Amino acid sequence: MRDEHAERYHVGMNPAKIARFRDSERYFICPLCHDALHLDGTSLRCANRHTFDIAKQGYVNLSPSAKQSQFYNKESFANRGHILDAGYYDHIMRAVLEAVDNHCPAPHNVDFAGLRDAQCPAVLDAGCGEGFYARAVQDAHPEADVLAFDISKDSIRQAAHEDMGMAVKWFVGNLADLPVHDGTIDCILDVFSPIHYDEFRRVMKDDAVVIKVVPGAHHDEQLRELARAQLRNADYSNEQTIEQFATHFTIVDSQLISQTFAMSDDDVRTFAHMTPLLFNVDIDALDLTQINELTIEARIIVARK
Ligand SMILES: [Zn+2]
Repeated sequence: MRDEHAERYHVGMNPAKIARFRDSERYFICPLCHDALHLDGTSLRCANRHTFDIAKQGYVNLSPSAKQSQFYNKESFANRGHILDAGYYDHIMRAVLEAVDNHCPAPHNVDFAGLRDAQCPAVLDAGCGEGFYARAVQDAHPEADVLAFDISKDSIRQAAHEDMGMAVKWFVGNLADLPVHDGTIDCILDVFSPIHYDEFRRVMKDDAVVIKVVPGAHHDEQLRELARAQLRNADYSNEQTIEQFATHFTIVDSQLISQTFAMSDDDVRTFAHMTPLLFNVDIDALDLTQINELTIEARIIVARK
């Protein structure tokens, strides 16, 4: 039954959306038995015949029991997509790309065939959301293998849908039990996402880097000031997060990226509804018209094992 279903699926499926999973055994393991996963028709399958279909958008669900977050629904994706498209995070994205360029082992002076087989850098975006950073890295580095996952199926579906290059290997995955082989990743991106130290270390090569992005102390400060009465702690601090990170990895670079934008009332409203720092605030009780500019700030930290 399963094969018939896959066959039928195949007819309507764009082969380009499957091509990116051709060398799956290089990176992916079965979330059930941890055996290597191979591309088989329009599915990834292990030797024990555990089967994971590639969805028509071009992603694979390797965490079939994943739960959705109440804060990441279709509406919040639309809001986030609008804010990202408007360019308010472009300075953060440029800094992430720069960090990849400067610290991810780049395959210089290698002929193309050799590069593809041996030295193609593997970048894993852990908690990629709607894929803004993963797509940017893949566009900037067509030679790289970019793997990107999130626990939210909705966000991965959206990310894959918007991936015009069809090169990023999108998957739904569990941060605490990554369906990825030991020691295969050159660079982990961890952008505004939780971290799982043991899993990161396990999948990283010895000389791999983690690029971690955390909100800066001034991030969203105009909104947090307005919501001060409702917030338990209006003064956001990332110090604890960074200190903890530094006990697990050796920090080799750290920079603060900050820009303050004039923002329309509509964009302020959209932003207020999407920022995690205000998830527990009653947005409708705030007079958002008092805000006409907003600071988008992040610290970009590069670290090694
Ligand atoms: Zn299996």
